[in-house]
Amino acid sequence: MHPLRIFLLVLIAATTASLEGIVHVVKKGENLTIISKAYNVSVAELKKVNNIENADNISIGQKLEIPGTALRFVDYKIRHGDSLSSIAARHGVKAKEIAAFNGIRDFNKIRAGQVIKVPATTREAARKYSSLPWNTRNALAKIPVKKSQWKTIVIHHSGTVADRAKNIDRFHREERNMENGIAYHFVIENGTRGTENGDIYISERWKKQLHGGHMKLWAHNQIAIGICLIGNFEKSRPKAKQMEQLEALIDYLQERAGIPGKAVTTHTLMHPNHTLCPGKLFPTSQLKRMVN
Ligand SMILES: [Zn+2]
Repeated sequence: MHPLRIFLLVLIAATTASLEGIVHVVKKGENLTIISKAYNVSVAELKKVNNIENADNISIGQKLEIPGTALRFVDYKIRHGDSLSSIAARHGVKAKEIAAFNGIRDFNKIRAGQVIKVPATTREAARKYSSLPWNTRNALAKIPVKKSQWKTIVIHHSGTVADRAKNIDRFHREERNMENGIAYHFVIENGTRGTENGDIYISERWKKQLHGGHMKLWAHNQIAIGICLIGNFEKSRPKAKQMEQLEALIDYLQERAGIPGKAVTTHTLMHPNHTLCPGKLFPTSQLKRMVN
């Protein structure tokens, strides 16, 4: 059996197979057979996921979703002193395999700062949003994400000490007349009002890929994924479990919607004069470390 194949099988067994995939941009000289081999998926799967009827009908620059690869590959930024061989060795594959699925023809033509796709090491794969519970991951995987719509992730607090997503949903629907219900895409519960601490509530807005209602400006609501943590962080810090789940959720969203670390922010960083949300005790520096 091919070493890459063995490596990936071990990895899939060690982590959780995901339905989701990374996006591959078709390069000159590639066809579906070459791409399918590089990622160890079948041509039939590639065609199905990407709605391709004729395999000969793909063009350079076309974006293809590669099913099941989200946990198996990571972005790697090349550093000074790296060679394809040293990177490959660290990730348990051969240099030519990394070269093949990044369209690198000359091994010497890599430069520091260049970002390539490499198979995740078992440790990386284990870290990546694996602390999300099974049912949350399953629920998320079923939601088709409009990648081009989302540009930023904004963190809020509820401003209430004891609360739950369902209450906020009712409040926004009935008192604020928001027909799409709760203004956020996600809520992370804090264990009050009968909830489980760290539970992630996925709102209708995320399920239906609708704009949020959590920002002052309509333009921001169109592009910002809103995550609300239950609690009043003017008075106390978020719970450790909430922060752990926040990190896992952000990790997932960044990968799924292609959002860079610098675009993960808080409400007050977006609107310093308008709000203190998510409160002075929210660990913004920890958030920034999470995403960098
Ligand atoms: Zn807010």
